[in-house]
Amino acid sequence: MENALVGKFCKPCFHLSSGRAAMVLQKRKGIGTNHKFYCSSKFKVGTSVEKQESSYAGLVSDQEIVWPSPDDEIPFWKRDFPSWNVSPEVPNESTVKDSDLMHIIHVTAEMAPIAKVGGLGDVVTGLARASLSRGHTVDIMLPFYKCISKQQINELELINTYDSYHDGNWIPTSAYRGAVSGISVIFIEPSNEFFKGEHVYGGSYNELEAYLFFSRACLEWMQVTGTQPEIIHVHEWQIGALPLLYWDMYRYLSLTKPRIVLTIHNMEHYGECRQEQLSKCGLDGSMYATTEKAVDDRTIGHNPERLCLLKGGIVYSNAVVYYGVLNGIDTAMWNPATDVFLPAKFDAQKIEGKKLCKYYIQKGLGLATESITSSNHVPDATVKVPLVVCITRLVPQKGLHLITHALKRVEELGGQMIVLGKASDGRVEGEFKRLADLHNRGPSIRILLMYSEELSHMLYAAADMVLVPSMYEPCGLSQMIGMRYGSILKVPVVRKTGGLADTVFDMDDQSNREMANGFVFEGIDEGSLNWALDRAFAYYKDKPDEWNGIVKKIMKIDNSWNNTAGKYIEIYNSVRVRS
Ligand code: ADP
Repeated sequence: MENALVGKFCKPCFHLSSGRAAMVLQKRKGIGTNHKFYCSSKFKVGTSVEKQESSYAGLVSDQEIVWPSPDDEIPFWKRDFPSWNVSPEVPNESTVKDSDLMHIIHVTAEMAPIAKVGGLGDVVTGLARASLSRGHTVDIMLPFYKCISKQQINELELINTYDSYHDGNWIPTSAYRGAVSGISVIFIEPSNEFFKGEHVYGGSYNELEAYLFFSRACLEWMQVTGTQPEIIHVHEWQIGALPLLYWDMYRYLSLTKPRIVLTIHNMEHYGECRQEQLSKCGLDGSMYATTEKAVDDRTIGHNPERLCLLKGGIVYSNAVVYYGVLNGIDTAMWNPATDVFLPAKFDAQKIEGKKLCKYYIQKGLGLATESITSSNHVPDATVKVPLVVCITRLVPQKGLHLITHALKRVEELGGQMIVLGKASDGRVEGEFKRLADLHNRGPSIRILLMYSEELSHMLYAAADMVLVPSMYEPCGLSQMIGMRYGSILKVPVVRKTGGLADTVFDMDDQSNREMANGFVFEGIDEGSLNWALDRAFAYYKDKPDEWNGIVKKIMKIDNSWNNTAGKYIEIYNSVRVRS
């Protein structure tokens, strides 16, 4: 299921290595004004972070911090934050404005922050915002999951109702439009049970069939509204059937202009599908059971053979981008100088706020520390005890055995560690619950089994070190966010081509002193992790000045979309049709 699968429709743009696009992203004023069809002025969500900050009483300045406690009725990360809706404009950053503008529609199962499970959500929102700020017209199409909080959507309105096909029926479907983080989002809401669960994934409906429905419903919406973007950018297996539906069905109706770009963020999930399931979206599933189309080659000779939506997507897309391409982080959404979730702001020049964030987390989670004596001087204990943070989906890819080992080792070394993680597997959840019961009353370890965007921001800010012990990482955003928030990284390098290897360089690597930003370990065994942790702790304790220097340096590293948005625009331009 690799490069060889590029099919007749696919003009390949493989990026299996980690070349960086050195395009500079310019931010410009007047975002959204060129939006041809959807974007009236009300979609210019220009509320700047700075403005939101000043309106937020309680956590605005260092003097006014309301220190939390584990006994608070409302946990500190659930306090009433101002709505998080940053403008795509980022002041004081160099800007590229593209001249050859186009309309791009992302079709995706996730977008940050309203429907985010992992990096996919961050990447879709970050890339959409970067393209928008370069002058392009951008929409995101997303299932209207029941769990989406409508308060995070600006100007939500019903735009039309229409019917879309599923399994022999035409399902009445509503399309809403709203603005999220400055981007126009079209929400697709079928009247059946699809997407009506407590979480983005894992509802009590058939997920595969729901995404097949969604893929078709997005094209159907474009068809009934006469919307013809230059580029439909689909993401992951969930939207893998859309390229098939486009080229074998909607292309023969009225949609002729769009070209399809598929990004594969993580190949672990590929959308295994039976022929009769694919038929439910209106295609003849049996037509796709060939090696040239969508059969999963590994199931050939099995009974039944299965289809692979991701393979079909690869064959039928005009360009395929694997996330060996280094992606970026949205530096407006991840900015410790303006982050609405932080009790104290900071940047590389004024780093004091980071210590206050650490003390805030220690207080709020009941980790051992001394009491504060004056409002803006954190106690020595806070400064002296290193805080390690690990924020991750709890799946085997993320190095579960190393996370559990790190808890033990950090405690032995006299440090503190917080894991913020969500498991989708009951067995993993049970194992971490057991560890939480064991540790969460003690002085140094906290295991928080949930998803919380707010808390994740606070933890990146509070951390001295971010642990990213992934077995493999197509790109990985945690290490980039960690750097942006001044946390030194600890990562294993088990795949030299992965995003971690491209973004993290060892502090003891004498040949690469300029780039040093973390502690890298080779191998996935506990001994290797010990070695990295021991070195990191020794550095932290023995060389505080050097440590602080590195913290300031890594905060200035540019991991923004400046580096990769231009690469995407090149790919779009290489496949688009000019009329
Ligand atoms: P992946 O996409 O494989 O999950 P990435 O490192 O690319 O990994 O992206 C993970 C993103 O999800 C980061 O923004 C990280 O902060 C966030 N994240 C992961 N787990 C949680 C959690 N439990 N709560 C809040 N944010 C989380």
